[in-house]
Amino acid sequence: MSDNVIIRAKDVQKTYNTGKVVVQALRGLDLEVKQGEMVAIMGPSGCGKTTLLNTLSGLDAIDEGVIEIDGRNLAKMSDKERTAYRAANMGFVFQFYNLLPVLTAVENVEMPLLLDYSSRIKAKEARKLAGEALAAVGLADQGDQRPTELSGGQQQRVTIARALVNKPAIVWADEPTGDLDSKTSQEIMDLMRRLNRENGQTFVIVTHSLEIGEQCDRIVWMKDGLVVGEPQQQPTAVPVNGNGYPKQIAQLTLQTA
Ligand code: ADP
Ligand code: MG
Repeated sequence: MSDNVIIRAKDVQKTYNTGKVVVQALRGLDLEVKQGEMVAIMGPSGCGKTTLLNTLSGLDAIDEGVIEIDGRNLAKMSDKERTAYRAANMGFVFQFYNLLPVLTAVENVEMPLLLDYSSRIKAKEARKLAGEALAAVGLADQGDQRPTELSGGQQQRVTIARALVNKPAIVWADEPTGDLDSKTSQEIMDLMRRLNRENGQTFVIVTHSLEIGEQCDRIVWMKDGLVVGEPQQQPTAVPVNGNGYPKQIAQLTLQTA
């Protein structure tokens, strides 16, 4: 590929049909993300942010359109290939930490390595890498603790270590700070930003927090299943320019053109 676009979505449509209601969650969405970019996805509840992450990452199928990750169309892979591709190239961080409560922190972190059959990694090596990942998020001494013995911020750091342990090209985060107080949120954001800069990994972060969004390279605003050029709701406590839109966001959206 001539450009360094790592995520390309073209005219993506996704409908949920529960039998009773049909919801068009994505309505012809276009998006490009460059390698090494840290992008925030923002927009009102129900606008399709989680659906977008789940479809871009290949967890969910789309109805129309094309998604390419690093030039590869995940929809054309078999389930097995797609699962292996995800395990090798993607990391996931969610709001509710999704840690397995019966496992210790280090056991949770080494999971992706042991699940990635293509890597043929040995248990001892997996344990060592998991320990290094925990050290990278400041939890070198907490490896033997179970999730319930850790604070919310520590648990989220464990999920970040788990998402990064196999050095994935892309990290997807769905409201990673949604359940944390503002100080802990900032610590988690600092950590993700540092890992993004140090490792050149691409981050796509769904967030409700403008504070978090503004620390990313760019904010992609969504409404009703589409990417929109400007915020639909004027956030409070942000200086406003002549267009009626916050200055920072007007500047940020220019970069998307
Ligand atoms: P957001 O993450 O921005 O809050 P979602 O992607 O979760 O939005 O949801 C987008 C729309 O799709 C909403 O109207 C939601 O109710 C609907 N939706 C999401 N998941 C499902 C599902 N599994 N089945 C039916 N409808 C769904
Ligand atoms: Mg959501």
